[in-house]
Amino acid sequence: LIELRDVHKSFGSIEVLKGVSMSVRDGGVVCIIGPSGSGKSTILRCINGLITIDRGTVRVGSFAVETLTKDKHLVPLRHEVAMVFQQYNLFPHRTVLQNLTMAPVQVLGEKPAVVRERALALLAKVRLTGKENAYPGELSGGQQQRVAIARALAMQPRVILFDEVTAALDPEMVSEVLNVIRELAREGMTCVLVTHEMRFAQEVADEIFFTDKGVIVEHGPPARLFKSPNDPRLKAFLDKVL
Ligand code: ATP
Ligand code: MG
Repeated sequence: LIELRDVHKSFGSIEVLKGVSMSVRDGGVVCIIGPSGSGKSTILRCINGLITIDRGTVRVGSFAVETLTKDKHLVPLRHEVAMVFQQYNLFPHRTVLQNLTMAPVQVLGEKPAVVRERALALLAKVRLTGKENAYPGELSGGQQQRVAIARALAMQPRVILFDEVTAALDPEMVSEVLNVIRELAREGMTCVLVTHEMRFAQEVADEIFFTDKGVIVEHGPPARLFKSPNDPRLKAFLDKVL
């Protein structure tokens, strides 16, 4: 479903991605791990066309993402690829329910009644029934992040990209968010996760990609990668984080 081939990206004179290749099958769950500044977020931004790449190809389903440079061309891609960020980015002056329904109604042109029903079902799924009329500021960080995930799902995407979605949360709220993601993964949603939660990555991922300084140094199934890393850079990284 997703395929990056030899992707290069520089910001100014700094080459941030130096030939990244990876693929994710439909229904696959992939985690990207690696040190700060190694290019993890940049990889996600290539997948949903938030940034243009210098060289290589990015495919998502039938989309050749690297050719969709103009914003209007990206609209159909954005329907298929949702992204959830560390800072939830909810609309502060809209209720929880409005946060979920705005884009499907205004961008996709779906019927408000249909969208509303779906939004309520999604709030139940992320265990926030009863919060539909609350404003984001009235919710805990973990609750807001679950709203953000429900908002992504409200677009009925084929892929969700998660960029360190638990990194800003207090420890007791991390598991409630991970539980929601775990459930999505089990249901067959295609997920690409950048995460520092190594135990979670080990549990949910089909495949782990380890990035360092703009290259994918090593990738493979979690059981193998965590137990017997080959590359010394991965070994050193795991020694630090495990
Ligand atoms: P972290 O774990 O800290 O989130 P990361 O692996 O996600 O790191 P990226 O955000 O992909 O790393 O950044 C990789 C490198 O690219 C960093 O050196 C960063 O400073 C640089 N970079 C990222 N975005 C831009 C930008 N828009 N302009 C200039 N430099 C950028
Ligand atoms: Mg990042």
